[in-house]
Amino acid sequence: MSGRILVVDDNPLNVKLLAARLTREYYAVTTASNGLEALNLAQQEPPDIILLDVMMPDMDGYETCRRLRGDPRTQHIPVIMVTALSDAEDRIKGLEAGAQDFLSKPIHDVALFARVRSLLRLKMVMDEWRMRHSTGSSFGITTGQYDEALDVNKPNILLVTDDPLEHDQIKQALQPLHPKLHQVTQTEAAKNAARSADYDLVICSLALQQDDGLRICPELRGQEQTRHVPILLIGDQTDYERVARGLDLGANDYLLEPLDATELLARVTNQVRFRRSYERLKQSYEQSLSLAVTDPLTGSFNRRYFDNHLPRLMERGVSLNKPLALLVIDADHFKRINDSYGHAAGDAVLQELANRLLQNLRPSDFVARYGGEEFVVVLPETDNATAQGIATRLLETVGGKPFNIGAAGEAPVTVSIGLAGMQANDTPATLFQRADQAAYGAKQAGRNQIVAA
Ligand code: GH3
Ligand code: MG
Ligand code: MG
Repeated sequence: MSGRILVVDDNPLNVKLLAARLTREYYAVTTASNGLEALNLAQQEPPDIILLDVMMPDMDGYETCRRLRGDPRTQHIPVIMVTALSDAEDRIKGLEAGAQDFLSKPIHDVALFARVRSLLRLKMVMDEWRMRHSTGSSFGITTGQYDEALDVNKPNILLVTDDPLEHDQIKQALQPLHPKLHQVTQTEAAKNAARSADYDLVICSLALQQDDGLRICPELRGQEQTRHVPILLIGDQTDYERVARGLDLGANDYLLEPLDATELLARVTNQVRFRRSYERLKQSYEQSLSLAVTDPLTGSFNRRYFDNHLPRLMERGVSLNKPLALLVIDADHFKRINDSYGHAAGDAVLQELANRLLQNLRPSDFVARYGGEEFVVVLPETDNATAQGIATRLLETVGGKPFNIGAAGEAPVTVSIGLAGMQANDTPATLFQRADQAAYGAKQAGRNQIVAA
């Protein structure tokens, strides 16, 4: 996985060495020697990751990081703090300033590349969602904000450990978040648990007696429901290689024993935040997608979707050698309903009309509001005689019982239906035209009836 990395350090030798190591692994590297320069570079040409020295004159790494986070152009770029001190307090300060990770000098090659790869992967996923989100916005239909403040409270956490002491220690450290902790002692059990419940995070020990904790990575990454659950590994100082391996296999973060309570809390908070912002982005994307294809008044599909979907249904019919019928359904004298009872009553009738149509069709039939008081129904695998029967049922469903229009009571409603069966060489346009013409014929013939093309 290649990527652009910005290396920031006030010491020219450090910059040179780090840049050389990264370039050798085919990353594209840019460099800055102070915080301001870094901010400018990041704004002009946002890198995928920033490696940021903590100790710099003028603006230190923490302040630089806070400013990166405060700018919409740079707030999504993952930051790795590089510190000479291995003091837990400095790491926590970095995470609090908004860094995703930190590395201690001298920087271990394995740790460096494992971290960079893991953060690049995370960024790719988030970038993809942000792009879809903004595509949605350009339709003017995206709801909600993906970067508004997130609640990280009461996370649902799966803890894989067989050490009661470790369990208690973690529970204690995470108390401020009020987590729901569920403990299992093996990776197989973790896989099953994670499949049946929605976890914000899985914490897995690498010191399991009966199991290899690293197996959690392929187990969770290999199944669709758990592919994006963050994994945090707990190892000890001798586990360096295994931790690096775990990050390669899809773990998101790690901690080494002896556990520092504050650091654990900060790292867990970070992962939960990532998880929840990912979920929110996904949800709002799905929501905007569904808004783009549905009609807000009746909840049925809209014309845009019909225009896209009819060609596909026709192609499938042709390739399966099955018939297909199209109905154009137009409410009769709908203007009168609006005029006599008001626009709100008209709206209520349209909603009820969409409901009655849907309830009298098969799930495989397709209903869309074509416009105003006109609906279309596509009947796949349906010949003309059967379609005639279905149209008759719809006509009776509508005309047989008056519509509830709220305070004004009830109003009779009828529809006129045009029916056309798909013919060889039909295009979506010619098929629709025949059904539409037929509907016009039904109007001419006196309404409340069906005309077949
Ligand atoms: P016809 O039997 O010939 O179809 O007569 P009609 O009155 O139904 O047809 P016309 O096309 O003349 O009028 C359609 C009316 O439907 C006019 C328009 O105000 C109304 N209408 C369209 N969309 C809506 C809507 O979303 N809500 C309401 N309340 N009325 C709508
Ligand atoms: Mg009408
Ligand atoms: Mg009309």
